[in-house]
Amino acid sequence: MVKDLGALLENKIIEECGVFGIYNVKNAAQLTYYGLHALQHRGQQGAGIATFDGEKISRYRGEGLVIEIFNSENISRLKGEYSIGHVRMGSDEVSGIENIQPLLVRSHTGDFTVAHNGRIINYEQLRTQLEYEGSIFQTSSSSEVICHLIQRQTGTFTEKIKKAIGKLEGSFAFLIMTEKNIYAVRDKNGFSPLAIAKLDDGFVISSETVGFEMINAQIIRDVKPGEIIKIGKKGLRSIMYTESTQKKMCSMEYIYLARPDSDIDGLNVHASRRMCGRILAQEFPCEDADIVIGVPDSSLSAAMGYSDGAGVPYEIGLIKNRYIGRTFIQPTQEERERGVKMKLSPVSNTIKGKNIVLVDDSIVRGTTSKYIVKLLKEAGAKAVHVRIASPAMVAPCFYGVDTSSLKDLISARMSLQELRDYIGADSLGFLSNEGLKKGLGNNICSACFDREYPTYLFGLDENFKKELKKLKN
Ligand code: SF4
Repeated sequence: MVKDLGALLENKIIEECGVFGIYNVKNAAQLTYYGLHALQHRGQQGAGIATFDGEKISRYRGEGLVIEIFNSENISRLKGEYSIGHVRMGSDEVSGIENIQPLLVRSHTGDFTVAHNGRIINYEQLRTQLEYEGSIFQTSSSSEVICHLIQRQTGTFTEKIKKAIGKLEGSFAFLIMTEKNIYAVRDKNGFSPLAIAKLDDGFVISSETVGFEMINAQIIRDVKPGEIIKIGKKGLRSIMYTESTQKKMCSMEYIYLARPDSDIDGLNVHASRRMCGRILAQEFPCEDADIVIGVPDSSLSAAMGYSDGAGVPYEIGLIKNRYIGRTFIQPTQEERERGVKMKLSPVSNTIKGKNIVLVDDSIVRGTTSKYIVKLLKEAGAKAVHVRIASPAMVAPCFYGVDTSSLKDLISARMSLQELRDYIGADSLGFLSNEGLKKGLGNNICSACFDREYPTYLFGLDENFKKELKKLKN
């Protein structure tokens, strides 16, 4: 069973996916390869690129990292000036090459290919219905329902997409490439990021703006919630698939998932993390702190912010080993502990004899925090005060970010005091829900912290009841 080692060791949310597309630019596959590199943090399980060369859609996919899958030979076979690509992180149940995207539909009405980030939460109902009506599925990926739904609609291809998306619930941002156009689609709640940029006479679409930086494309704007952008010979055309929209970007994108150098909905990720760290320092100061350190990499910006806010020096106290192997097989508790040691090393010279504020972005199961506190104490820290730059996670996500279930969320089971004792910290503080909104604004979903689900979607109540039942058992 192949999993991402980093995610396993950190017991963190496993990133969903990243999509990247090029329209009307030479060597589209090569540029997509660079774009997928920039989005690698969003998924390491597999990647794929599809291109259209004026006659046919070609595709190459593989399991592993972008750099492991693609080489000059297979890239050179992907000819054309249109391209879409995908990096994938899926659950174990949907591993295997057939689930690596872009998915490709060969049809007498015209071939098309789909790259999808997010989760369709009414997938099972849709799939059952589609199978009942005669569809034969080739994969176990929820993204395949998009292909079947589009194919079953009537009208122009744009009308078909519009009708198909109207049936989907959940968080999604996806790209569809036909033999004429590329379509960029974002869900009506704006949970998942997607932005569009200009490059020469063409366009680029990316889950995160870091993809644009990589190829010197100039950002135009974010795709709006509920919007389909059709990219074609006449340029960009905006079509709303629904008027019932809201901006509820997943706050975990800012807290943990996205790269710090990305801007999402106009807010820079590093700046937002730094701001949350500063607010955290006001909410949970630490009187006798000597230094502030962060857990690399996603917590470093927040640690800098805490240091700014507290007026306590920021230091590098933990080093991340970047060359650790990616795959791992069902780790035991002991293996996980050893794994954390392999992945993170304390800088003893910096931390010995010091009162440390350790800033982390979030706590899911609590096991990583426990190991890191132990690691720092074994390396000579006098005291370790843990500060979390997001609120306590008390509810599961139903919108497509693959969090643990409710029973895995330690903050849903333990009081602050119990959790502090469990991880062995000298003190513990979480950013408040108000602090999070101060740092990120109000256009966010923060349901896993405050249970304020921005929308009561299909099946949500039942799911939540099931999760609660599991917790009680
Ligand atoms: S519930 Fe949490 S993880 Fe899910 S979309 Fe909302 S903020 Fe993101």
